This record gives sequence, structure tokens and C-alpha cells, in this order.
Amino acid sequence: MNDAATRAITGLVRPIEDWPEPGVTFRDITPLLSDPAGFDAVLSAMADAARGLGQLDAVLGVESRGFVLGAPMARELAVPFLPVRKEGKLPAETRAATYDLEYGTATLEIHVDALAPGARVVVVDDVLATGGTLTATQSLVEEAGATVVGHLVMIEIGALGGRGRLEPTPLTALHTY
Ligand code: AMP
Repeated sequence: MNDAATRAITGLVRPIEDWPEPGVTFRDITPLLSDPAGFDAVLSAMADAARGLGQLDAVLGVESRGFVLGAPMARELAVPFLPVRKEGKLPAETRAATYDLEYGTATLEIHVDALAPGARVVVVDDVLATGGTLTATQSLVEEAGATVVGHLVMIEIGALGGRGRLEPTPLTALHTY
């Protein structure tokens, strides 16, 4: 993996202990976003990883930090950017996927007309934890008759086993804790 991106992640993503609840180490990417060279290194590495997945028809970004990474990546790759949003935010007709959180559930939505059947897409987010978010996003893609050719995150929290939930779809993480 790209050294400049690894240095940027390990040097600029800030661990916040016990947030939003005791026992969680939150990976705060805001210092990285404030550093143009570091942000550029990460975006370049993510775009390179996406190019390695072959022909791509779109980049999907998951609200909200997946937007910050996915939209500039889509621009660099010259493919459409498609937002996957939290429930009730998209104005036109949507399809929805609900998944379990530690307490309760969450719902993600995409516009019904966003994806053509047969489209090959990459899904982008900042952090992979349990994999629930990316699994739900993949189900939205598959309901549309499209394919997730890969998931792409800046940071993987290895101990939570998200990678296994996504198999056999490949996951690229720029850095694993
Ligand atoms: P999961 O669905 O469990 O894989 O959680 C991934 C989603 O929650 C991503 O959208 C992340 O932005 C967020 N997330 C989960 N855990 C963390 C963490 N430790 N630090 C930062 N973001 C996290």
C-alpha cells in the first residue's frame, strides 16, 4: 500500500477513546481532512485501489464520511458518484435496507433510478467496523441488479470481523487497526 497514505492515516487520524460510548475508540478523520497533502495522499491511494477493480460504472459513498471520500474519488475516476443516505433524506423514490446496530436498527436508502442493472460499482466509507453498513449497502446494489465489485475503506477495525461478513466481495482497507 501507498506509504504516504499510510503515514497520513497513522499520523493524522485521531483516536478518541470512549466515544460515543465507553469501550469504543472512535477514529476521527477530521485532522486528516484538514491536511491537504495527507488528504490528497489518501484519495490517490483509494482511487488507485478502485482502478485495480477493473471497469467501474459508479462510486457509491455512504453518508456522511463516505461522501467526503467518495465524491472526490469519483471525480478523479471520471465516473458517477451515487450517495447512499440515511432514511428520509433522498427526495425521489428510494429502495431501503435496514440492518441491526448494537442497540436498535438503522436504515440506508438509495434512489431507485440511481443504478442501472448490470452496473459495476465500488462502495466507499471511512471506517469498517462490524460490516453492517457495507453489507446493507451491498444489498441495495444487488436489489437493483447491479454488482459491488469491491468495498473500499480508509480504516478497518480488524477485531470486529467486518471483512468476513463481506466475503466473497473483496475489501480494500488502506490501514487496519
Ligand atoms: P459498521 O456498520 O459497524 O461497519 O460501522 C461502520 C460505520 O460506522 C461507518 O460509517 C463508520 O463511519 C462508523 N464507525 C463505526 N465504528 C467507528 C469507529 N470506531 N470510528 C469511526 N467511525 C466508526
